[in-house]
Amino acid sequence: MSAPLLAARGLTKHFPARGGGSVRAVDGVDLDLAAGETLGLVGESGCGKTTLGRLVLRLIEPSAGSLVFEGTDLRALPPEAMRRMRRKMSIIFQDPVGSLDPRMKVADIVGEPLRIFNEGSRAERRARVLDLLRRVGLNEAHASRHPHEFSGGQRQRIGIARALALSPALVVCDEPVSALDVSIQAQIVNLLMDLQQELGLSYLFVAHDLAVVRHIADRVAVMYLGRVVETAPKPVLFAAPLHPYTLALLDAVPHPDPRQARPLVALPGEVPSPLNPPSGCHFRTRCPRAEARCAEQAPPLRQVAAGHLVACHLVT
Ligand code: ATP
Repeated sequence: MSAPLLAARGLTKHFPARGGGSVRAVDGVDLDLAAGETLGLVGESGCGKTTLGRLVLRLIEPSAGSLVFEGTDLRALPPEAMRRMRRKMSIIFQDPVGSLDPRMKVADIVGEPLRIFNEGSRAERRARVLDLLRRVGLNEAHASRHPHEFSGGQRQRIGIARALALSPALVVCDEPVSALDVSIQAQIVNLLMDLQQELGLSYLFVAHDLAVVRHIADRVAVMYLGRVVETAPKPVLFAAPLHPYTLALLDAVPHPDPRQARPLVALPGEVPSPLNPPSGCHFRTRCPRAEARCAEQAPPLRQVAAGHLVACHLVT
């Protein structure tokens, strides 16, 4: 792979917990994202996906680790240079309602990043906003309306237009379709894919299940309790998953051909607290294959085939 657009190494975020100690939300993650690529980031609620998405945009400061974007060490950038760099990165939120100011008109919402960065004249900004609305399947008549006048899917289109206002290279999509009706989800996923083709975007696409990323991702990273446990090109991850946690997640995905459905691997219990994660492999307390050594040592993420990395002592 040529130099990645984004490279994270050992990225870590520990939040101080109220009663003392710390929440290990992201616990030493390595991640590469190539230009024009979509990396699906999947895992159960609370495993650190949102925190990781915010870390790579430097919306929150890492506790440790490095973050290189277009060859620049983001953590070393002074505030003004970071502000300029920020134009190249944006985020689409899960909740288009909560993330749009209800008092603002759509044109002002979509044009706000342009105003903040002093882009062009008023007329140029207006023309850019109309172009963005058109690209996301809305039109000029929508520009003067308020968010509450739109359906959930349309509101997400507004959120997407806003995220693209400054022509970013990297967009973190934080569960962008999870709050939408299933019938609308595919439309938004298809729109994101079309926009990627047209604009050469890279996506870090966060989702809590594998079904959503099946269509859009080029590669998938599976996260469990702050760590990436498996990463592979999408076809490999779906056809030949190796980590017991990935297998369990795949069981939750309906298979189009029931004859090829896997035997069910029940996943007991819930994700343990990141305040006090299990020793060794974080997954061992729910793993059907766990052995004594899994409690003793955290398995490193190692390459088992080209582009296929797994963190499990039992995968040889
Ligand atoms: P979800 O799908 O529910 O959003 P997630 O996988 O995105 O989950 P995160 O939101 O990143 O997970 O949270 C990871 C862990 O970090 C959780 O235990 C959460 O409670 C904790 N956490 C997140 N933000 C903070 C914060 N600001 N202070 C303390 N703990 C936090």
